[in-house]
Amino acid sequence: MTEIKCGLEIHGYINVENKTKLFCNCSIEEDATPNTNICPICTAMPGSKPMLPNKQAVDKIIAIALMLGCKINKRMLFQRKHYSWPDLPAGFQKTMSGSYSNPVGVNGKFLGIRISDVHLEEDPARWDPVTGNVDYNRSGFPLVEIVTEPDFKSTNELRDWLKALLTTLNYIKAIDKNSGVKADTNISIGPKFSRVEVKNVNSFSNIVKAAEYEVLRQEEEIKEGKEIKQQTRAFDEKHNKTIFMRSKEEAADYMFIPEPDLPAINIDDNYIEKIIKTLPESPDKKIERLAKQYKIKKQDAFVICSDIMLSELFEKTARKINPLLAARWLRFELLRVLNYNKKELSETEINEKHMISLLTLIEENKITETTAQKILEKLAEKPFDINSCVKEHKLMAISGVKELEKICRDVILKNPKVVSDYKKGRKEALHFLIGQVMKATKGKASPKELKQIFTKLIN
Ligand SMILES: [Zn+2]
Repeated sequence: MTEIKCGLEIHGYINVENKTKLFCNCSIEEDATPNTNICPICTAMPGSKPMLPNKQAVDKIIAIALMLGCKINKRMLFQRKHYSWPDLPAGFQKTMSGSYSNPVGVNGKFLGIRISDVHLEEDPARWDPVTGNVDYNRSGFPLVEIVTEPDFKSTNELRDWLKALLTTLNYIKAIDKNSGVKADTNISIGPKFSRVEVKNVNSFSNIVKAAEYEVLRQEEEIKEGKEIKQQTRAFDEKHNKTIFMRSKEEAADYMFIPEPDLPAINIDDNYIEKIIKTLPESPDKKIERLAKQYKIKKQDAFVICSDIMLSELFEKTARKINPLLAARWLRFELLRVLNYNKKELSETEINEKHMISLLTLIEENKITETTAQKILEKLAEKPFDINSCVKEHKLMAISGVKELEKICRDVILKNPKVVSDYKKGRKEALHFLIGQVMKATKGKASPKELKQIFTKLIN
């Protein structure tokens, strides 16, 4: 196995409820007509000054840093990072990174990976190098940057960690889900570990793909006796590979200076304490706790905790219903229905009352699991009262051996060929017979009971 060192700089748009930019009151609506959500501040008109930073963005970034185990700086300074580019009319970006900065959070650790820095900055405009058009709508969006140490030892580790990071950020609705994350990934492989950086990879899956490609590419080069040089590469999404951009140049001089138009943000322990109180239990702790407290499989707890709403629904349901049944139904049946409908749980009105009614009916053998599946499918479309629906549509399970035996005898009489196949040892013939009864009863009989009845009747 090749030894690898890999680190990330992850960027994402901070999800603020007031939907406004970092230093002005312009909207951060995603699909607005270009250059309509702008003002003199975010287009850097001469003489304009920034407003105080959006408090919701500041609070959110402190929350992010806390979730990642960081130490919070109580005095945060914005810097001017100078560079000339069409997307930056001021000639500098306001950021909490850079030479004299105090990032929001430092020295964190998240699931074994050290976090060196969590900071806040503004996004530049969107520049199209082909047409030369610039859209200033995006100028001033609040951005979070999370920087890790090069602690990832394999691309599998990178994938699992990134997934866990996104789940954790979703627990506090930290990142705008529609725009996702972007990352600069640095990857180097042993024994020399020359740093190769892949810039600006968008989306979770591409970040992992770019890293996987890069490890293979560098291994090949070393095998061929070539030396890996420090360099910057880009990810070509179409062909799933990285391409050479430039060899390592001297670190650019951004001429950082403290932003003279913005005061330092000073916070105290009380302020941090207040934010800590709003934070949810982290997903990794929740997985451990649910598995232990409800005696469910860790893998089930893992899937259930991938969405905070699903995990809350589970706990509310499992207080009234056998947790094993609740876990199985939430993990498999509910997720199946949601995937099929391409919906998130939050986009449906399914709640614990529905799950408790449905699973109680199963526990008491009043409906079959097949019927329950159909009810759940309907619930994903719109909510209704389950008990009245079962009554109204006569969905109660047919039980009682006598009644079922009658239907089974009928099926046996109508299918002599299948019965003789079964007698000759074709086990799947039994499934056909059971299927016939399920059809006749519209799924209201239990397949397990039918199996017993058929075996008894035929033998
Ligand atoms: Zn503005």
